[in-house]
Formats: sequence, C-alpha cells, structure tokens
Amino acid sequence: MTNPLFDTLFGCHAENHRPFLHLPGGRSLSYDAFLKQAARFAHALGALGLVQGDRLAMQVEKSPHALAVYAACVQAGVILLPLNTAYTDEELAYFLENSGARLFLCDGARADTLSEVAKATGCRLAVLNADGTGSFAIAAQDKPDRFETVPRTHDDLAAFLYTSGTTGRSKGAMLTQENLLSNARVLAQYWRFSENDVLLHALPLFHTHGLFVATNTVLASGGAMLLLPGFDTEAVLNALPHTTVMMGVPTYYTRLLNEPRFTADLVAHMRLFTSGSAPMLTQTHHLFEDRTGQKILERYGMTETNMTTSNPYDGARRPGTVGVPLPGVEVKITAPDGTSLPKGQIGMIEVRGPNVFRGYWQMPQKTREELRENGFFITGDLGRIDEDGYLQIVGRSKDLVITGGYNVYPKEVEQILDDQPGVLESAVIGVPHPDYGEAVLAVLVPRAGEVPDLALIGAGLRTRLAGFKQPRKMVLAESLPRNTMGKVQKNVLRTAYKDVFQ
Ligand code: ATP
Ligand code: MG
Repeated sequence: MTNPLFDTLFGCHAENHRPFLHLPGGRSLSYDAFLKQAARFAHALGALGLVQGDRLAMQVEKSPHALAVYAACVQAGVILLPLNTAYTDEELAYFLENSGARLFLCDGARADTLSEVAKATGCRLAVLNADGTGSFAIAAQDKPDRFETVPRTHDDLAAFLYTSGTTGRSKGAMLTQENLLSNARVLAQYWRFSENDVLLHALPLFHTHGLFVATNTVLASGGAMLLLPGFDTEAVLNALPHTTVMMGVPTYYTRLLNEPRFTADLVAHMRLFTSGSAPMLTQTHHLFEDRTGQKILERYGMTETNMTTSNPYDGARRPGTVGVPLPGVEVKITAPDGTSLPKGQIGMIEVRGPNVFRGYWQMPQKTREELRENGFFITGDLGRIDEDGYLQIVGRSKDLVITGGYNVYPKEVEQILDDQPGVLESAVIGVPHPDYGEAVLAVLVPRAGEVPDLALIGAGLRTRLAGFKQPRKMVLAESLPRNTMGKVQKNVLRTAYKDVFQ
C-alpha cells in the first residue's frame, strides 16, 4: 500500500458509482465523481506550489467541495488544517502563523480582508465557495481527473486539528494516517456501518466529530451521507426519512425533542443515533427513549485521541456514561502522581492506543505535560470506571472546584440540579471566596415560562449533598454560554461571576 489512509478510505472506491453524498435539493454525487474532483484538486495543490508535508489551512462553508479538499490533501500528502468558520480575522492570524500553512482556502466573501492576514504570515490565499466556485476551483477545472497518489506511511501526518478552545487557546493536535485510519475501521465495525447506510450529516466539517468520526466511518464502510449545511430542525425532520443513522451533539437531540413532529413513526426505520462532543443529560436520553423507543448511543472522544469509548451497539447503553473502551484502546483512571486507581474511584482519565495523536504542533512543553513517555495521554477530563467497565465523566480537571480543601465534581451537583422543578439545565463552577479559596456557585437556566424556587431547591439539596458540595449561591441565567460544538464555556462563567463573593 502506498498511502494507507487514501487507499483504504478513498482509493478503494474508484469506479464505484454508488452515491457517496446526497445533497439538499435531491442531487447526489457518486464515489467515482467525488474522487475525480479530489484528483483535480490534488493537481491544483501541486500547481499552487504545495508538496507533501506542507500544510493547507481551510476556513470554508460546509460543502462537498470542502470534503474533496480533504481527500485531495490525503492523496497529495498535504497536511489539512480545517478551521472553525466562526473564527475572526485576528484568530485566523494565529492559526496561519502557528501552523506555518503554505496555502489558505477561504470563502470569497471574506477574501478581501483575509488576503491581508494571509500575506502577513507569508501564506498564499485561494477562494473556494460552497457552490464550488472561486480561484481554487478555477485552478482545478482543467486538470486531469486522475492523480498519482503520493506515497505516505502510517506514521506520516494527515491533519493538524485544532482543539475547540473550550479551556484556553486552541492547540494543534498532530494526527497521523494511523490515528485516523485505526479509528475509522474500529468505529465502522463497532457501530455496524455498511454500504446500505445513509448518515444524516448536520455537523460542521472543521471538528473531529463531523470530519473524522462521521466522514471516515462512512468512507470505511462504503455507505453514503446526506450532507446538510448545518443543523436546522426543519431540514433535519425532512431528511430523517431518507437516512439510517444520525450523529449529533446533545443540543441536536434536545431541539428535535422540542418538535411535536419528531415522533416514533418518523424514526422507526433508523438503526442508530449517536451523541458526543459534550455531555448529554440523562434526562435527554430518557425523553428520547420515551418518545421514540430508541436509545441514543453516547460515546466519548476528543481532538487529540479521536474516539476513545462508546456505549455498546448491542449491550446496555447506560445514560450518564460514555460506555467502554473501543477495541484496541486502553483507558485508565489515575491519581495526580500517575498511579492507577481502582474501579469506582474518581481520577484523571488517561488514554493509550493507535488513535492517540503525536503531540501538539510547536508546543513541546505542553506535549510533555500531557503525553506520557509510555504513550498514555492525560485527557484533562476526570472520571470513574464502574464495576462493569463503563466510564463516567465527572467534568474537566480545569473545572474541578476545590472549596476549603475539598474536591467538588461539578457533574455530581449539576445532575441533581437539573432534576429540580423549573430547572432546564445548570452549570456548577468555582469562584473566588475569601474564606474557602473557592466557593461553589450554581448557574441555573429556568424552563420556559417557569421560575425555579431557589430557597426550596437549596433546602432539598441539604438532604442529598454533603455541606461542602452545596452551592453557596445559586443564580438564574437565560442560557449557558456555549461554543459551536455545544460545549459549555465555564471559563466565561467563571469570569462573569468572579466577584460574587468578594
Ligand atoms: P480545548 O482542549 O481547546 O480546551 P475541547 O477539549 O473542548 O477544547 P475537543 O477536543 O473538541 O476540544 O473536545 C473534547 C472534549 O469534549 C473532551 O475532553 C470532553 O471534555 C468533551 N466530551 C466529548 N465527548 C463527551 C461526552 N460524550 N461526554 C462528556 N464530555 C465529552
Ligand atoms: Mg481538550
């Protein structure tokens, strides 16, 4: 094999005339047509001066063309760096500078201002619009539709994927061909994907969930994707009858459950719903089951490790857990000194396997701190493994509250708060306190039209939680700050409420 990732996910589909992408409006693109476009793009990369090992940064709207750029990069041995479409010019300057990208693909609408940003970092700019027009498409249009695949090995880098920046500045995770390929194979098998599947794809393409988990799993099984530009409840309701599997973040499911049209009948033919990227409330799991008779399969992963654990396809899917380690992946819970903790105890979640990245680009110090020499990656999440081997995440280490010397795991408190009358959801954070160092603060989002009785909730907590875990204060907020992947930004809350006890 000359280029394992390309040959296994893409190359094997040459001459395959089955659909790979179904697009809104009823048009479809076959695997063969997709690969021809990717080949033209790969030639265009060469024409623009890129050689193997170079980086290509891309901030474009979701489209089949963006996916063809991914395929072209793999075929040409170019490292792909997909970027969140929400990033501002200033943020982009950081990514271009940090990655040393040779070429930057962006939308025509932003090309004017971004060309200055690109120029300042010595990076070439080309345009690729969602409708397939733009200077990059022009550079590709007369190129041959076959491209000689550039040889690569398992250890060569395929992508720099920047983390979501939930806890601080985004870090560029260096992912190899093997990292992506091993996970694609495992997921396709574990979740029973076949060429008869049609995946409802509403996720963004700049994040591991939509780009690698969704796309690579489909490519590895020869199925198809119905590619929606984003999550729009109406569009998803209309698309569901034409699909067999849906992957989502928890907010997709809560939005669907708010719709009376989302019924058991509408999804009776679906064989799988998965959730990840952020914790799903157990309540959502139960509401979903009550409504549809189906159980959402929750799984856990991150930019640096691809997918790590999953609830089983056939066995019990346990709400509030992220399941068991995927085949080939090791997961352990450790104390701050790195020793393993027994089942049931809370500690740091560490992960090792062919899915684990090679380090953070140009951050050797951070890489040393988080990636142990023995191959275990310290995920930054805290959790416990139960008697049956299921992993439960209790929060991020950075969100752990230490009050008067006692550890409070936000999730434990949030789970109780979420069940209180009138409460839609909650976030528990630690904020500076003159006596305790940090004190527990709960931010509660009321259900529409309801006003939670804070005194009553506080009284109820007294019988359920040790004193040090009980919020010193509860405040109401209209909503929780979230990033594009639906993750609650606790650092934003900590800043907003930093003075409440001062
Ligand atoms: P940064 O590392 O830049 O702060 P981030 O960790 O949010 O950002 P990602 O790699 O996109 O960036 O997200 C991975 C994190 O998402 C995990 O470490 C975990 O905290 C959370 N996560 C993913 N899936 C789940 C899940 N099923 N339940 C709870 N948390 C999850
Ligand atoms: Mg992270």
